[in-house]
Amino acid sequence: MLDLHIHSHFSPDSESRIEDIIKKAEKMKLKVIGISDHYDLEDRVPYAYRVEDMDHYYKALEFYKENTSEVKFLKGIEVGIQSSINGFEDDRFDYFIYSVHGLPGISDMSNEIVVKDYEKFYRDYFDEMLAALEKVHKPGFLGHMDYPRRYLKGNPEVPKSLYSKVWDIFQILKEKDIGIEINTSNMDRIVFDTLPSYELIKEYVRITGGNLITIGSDAHTVNKVGNFSEKVTEMLKDLGIKLIYYCENWEYSGLMI
Ligand SMILES: [Zn+2]
Ligand SMILES: [Zn+2]
Repeated sequence: MLDLHIHSHFSPDSESRIEDIIKKAEKMKLKVIGISDHYDLEDRVPYAYRVEDMDHYYKALEFYKENTSEVKFLKGIEVGIQSSINGFEDDRFDYFIYSVHGLPGISDMSNEIVVKDYEKFYRDYFDEMLAALEKVHKPGFLGHMDYPRRYLKGNPEVPKSLYSKVWDIFQILKEKDIGIEINTSNMDRIVFDTLPSYELIKEYVRITGGNLITIGSDAHTVNKVGNFSEKVTEMLKDLGIKLIYYCENWEYSGLMI
């Protein structure tokens, strides 16, 4: 169907060539793809990744957008937001993926995290997310909402005791007209679920009516492009969702599913 979260060689942790990504997407008959390379705004986040030459990145995306016809090609960027940073402006893109990749004071969020109280960890993470979201306003999608699940020992789900905080996040997304991404990167490894989890997606649908949902593979290799897009589309259909969204030139469009 579609995949709005794809990394290319412009990210330090991917070697995928954009032309190969497009070929894979065409082969899979995806309707829309978006390249969204890393741009972590806060360089104190461990492993902060950043597109090095923004103009070069933008021009490459512009070139492929003009020269790709079989699949709709979008210019995205995964903006790593934190409460310490005052948002990010760059009108040249089609949309942002907003991701929180770190917590203030957490030295490493890329290896297994062993904490006594994982509820507190999630609470701190969501507080950080809420504060960071306060500072952004451009259209886009919140990336991998329960990201700590990848790293917390045992990969626990967000506890129900934190659902009021989760609803606060849904509320701020709604107020700011920002959508949410269903990230498929962990469906066949580590977490074996979507990010956010199936339970949180159900909450999102219940609370917001399921508006502005997109799908992202978070592929760092070409073979993962579009991974599980069909499966998640079917899952969303079963939850009563009728449209999946992309965003082009800061305007949302829905695709019937
Ligand atoms: Zn991310
Ligand atoms: Zn990513």
